[in-house]
Amino acid sequence: MYADWRGRAEKMKTAFWTDDRQVIATALDAIPHGMAIWDADFRLKLFNQGYTAVYGLAEGDLKPGMHLREAARAILDAGNYFGYSVDDLYEVLVERFERQGEGAAPKEYQQILRDRSIRSTYAARPGIGWLVTCEDITDAADHQTALSKREADLAKQAMRFETAVDNMAHGLCMIDPDHRLVICNSNYAALYDLPEHLQRPGTLLTDIMDYRFDNGMRPKDGPIAFLQRRVQTISERKRAIDICEFENGQIISVVHQPMADGGWVETHQDITEQRRSEARIHHLARHDALTDLPNRTLFAEEMAMAESRVRRGEMMAVLCFDLDHFKVINDTLGHGVGDAVLQQVAARINHTKREHETAARFGGDEFALLAGPLKGPKDVAALSERLIAAIGEPMDIQGHRVMIGTSIGIAVAPMDGDDGDTLMKNADLALYRAKGDGRGTYRFFEKGMDATMQHRRLLESGLKMGLTRGEFSLVFQPLMELESNRVSCLEALLRWEHSELGLISPVEFIPVAEEIGFIVPLGEWVLREACRVAATWPGDTRIAVNLSPVQFKSRRLLDTVKSALSDSGLPPTRLELEITESVMLADSEQTLETLHALRALGVRISMDDFGTGYSSLSYLRAFPFDKIKIDRSFIEDVGTDDANFEIIKAVIALGRSLGMATTAEGVETEEQLDAVRAHGCDEIQGFLFSRPLSERDALDLISRLSPNERAELARRKVG
Ligand code: C2E
Ligand code: MG
Ligand code: MG
Repeated sequence: MYADWRGRAEKMKTAFWTDDRQVIATALDAIPHGMAIWDADFRLKLFNQGYTAVYGLAEGDLKPGMHLREAARAILDAGNYFGYSVDDLYEVLVERFERQGEGAAPKEYQQILRDRSIRSTYAARPGIGWLVTCEDITDAADHQTALSKREADLAKQAMRFETAVDNMAHGLCMIDPDHRLVICNSNYAALYDLPEHLQRPGTLLTDIMDYRFDNGMRPKDGPIAFLQRRVQTISERKRAIDICEFENGQIISVVHQPMADGGWVETHQDITEQRRSEARIHHLARHDALTDLPNRTLFAEEMAMAESRVRRGEMMAVLCFDLDHFKVINDTLGHGVGDAVLQQVAARINHTKREHETAARFGGDEFALLAGPLKGPKDVAALSERLIAAIGEPMDIQGHRVMIGTSIGIAVAPMDGDDGDTLMKNADLALYRAKGDGRGTYRFFEKGMDATMQHRRLLESGLKMGLTRGEFSLVFQPLMELESNRVSCLEALLRWEHSELGLISPVEFIPVAEEIGFIVPLGEWVLREACRVAATWPGDTRIAVNLSPVQFKSRRLLDTVKSALSDSGLPPTRLELEITESVMLADSEQTLETLHALRALGVRISMDDFGTGYSSLSYLRAFPFDKIKIDRSFIEDVGTDDANFEIIKAVIALGRSLGMATTAEGVETEEQLDAVRAHGCDEIQGFLFSRPLSERDALDLISRLSPNERAELARRKVG
């Protein structure tokens, strides 16, 4: 048996070794790795196909017995070790061999050859040389690279996510399906002042809530209602926005966004400031900045709401206010005082109206009140009286005592209209009537007021055109000096012959011209025309020109007077300027300065219509007027009203003591003349003596009355 086996073995051995090189080569080629043996002289002893494949060599590129340097050239030629020279590669390989001294552990190298990752192992084999094995690990390396890349990507993504979350302007938290915190950002923690331990993943949402409530963030609607709302939002699993108001005044908007896993993301934004500024903007858009009263917009909204109350049968009223001569205060005392007056008026209206009623300011000196419900129009009449009285109380503002009257127009719903626009329009019409009827009063809307309004508009639009078309002219009313019985002066009075409306009284159009500011150019025309006419008169007869307070405020006045005088050649001493008490209302430095500057020119200044305005004797002390003209209304009553007559006497006496001449205006009867003469009045003006005259008649009158002057006139005409 043994012999048998042995025999067989011998036979096999013989067969095996018949071509041992062939066999070894076949065996070596079957190994999946590359393998080569280099001898001590660096010559290739043995290699397999795997070895040539690693370098991408063709068959025959490597040969047994080949020197390492030659092999290096072949390897380089096949495109490996890019950038190496033969010497470089040879040195690298020799170094690897030499490093593997006797007894050294095999050493591994990893390198990229062309597009493959190759791991080579160098091991010394005493007596043989070096055994080099090469393994293509491209796939494994690719896998590893992919893994590391994914890890790096993930890390990068996580970093980006964290940065994004932490840099969000809003607070963010992510909650898992078990209502535990997954993540929250620093803004979320800061918003609720969360301590570190409540920011950790896994924290129960209820713990965070409890902490928030205890820490001063109690919801305004109470924690229970708040939590119920939150639970409902969570269970509905829909995107939702909740605006949460807290007892500490904070308002937070929470956006709830469910996630697929049953959890959700919340973003929290503190909108307290935003809400506050929205509210501020809303308030500003609906209120007047100066008085903080509702403005036209809010008033219109309130009226729209009142419309439905009127439809249900309630009686309401719209009151439109206009402060009498407010412009004068504004222009003479300055805008600071004007503003303070408006604020006080607003406060007084607020104080007088019922709490739920709406008072508004529309700008300028326009106010309005929506009053009601009313039992009847009597209610609103009483209210208007109270308002006029309250606003009319003196105001002490920046050292000035200011008094301002009010005119009120009233439209009552439903009689005068049942919608806001109609009521406003009708209250406005009633206001014009109130102003026309002497101001300081109230008027209810009446049918036909529309026509009045149209008339006024016609005046407004016609003024400017009237001046260019030459529709204005002057008439001259003489003033007679009682001592000498001669005409001392003629007052220039303006007339307007309107192309459609005919002759219009200055009483009617001057207030309109004042309101729209047209009095300044118109007054300038009067001044120049009056000076021009007076310059043609003989002797020293003076011309009196009326100045409106509005004109008086204009800084141009002094220059206008100077140029009217120099252009006409009229000596300043022959010009008298008549101002009313309202000019003195200002008693500002500027007013007095202008008065003194006019006086310095040689012009005379008269106080016109004395007794009709505020009749403050202090005005007479503030400036040394040349003349006081006692208003017609006092003269009218001579013989019937003793009190008025006493006043006339007192004014004449006062004028005398202050060195001011007195003129009685509107003397129509002998009785009146006798009375004023008896009490020492210096001058009279009135229909008894003469009505206002045309330019021609005025000249005739003057010439007729003074022979010397007539001679002078004749001399001038000849000259
Ligand atoms: P006033 O300055 O007081 O002028 C006197 C007014 O009284 C004139 O009215 C005159 O015609 C009128 N009058 C004079 N005597 C009598 C009389 O015996 N009985 C009656 N019933 N009336 C008499 P007129 O011309 O209608 O002017 C009214 C007012 O218009 C003037 O009052 C003045 O304030 C203003 N006015 C007239 N012209 C001008 C002007 O050029 N500029 C300015 N700013 N105002 C003017
Ligand atoms: Mg006058
Ligand atoms: Mg007068």
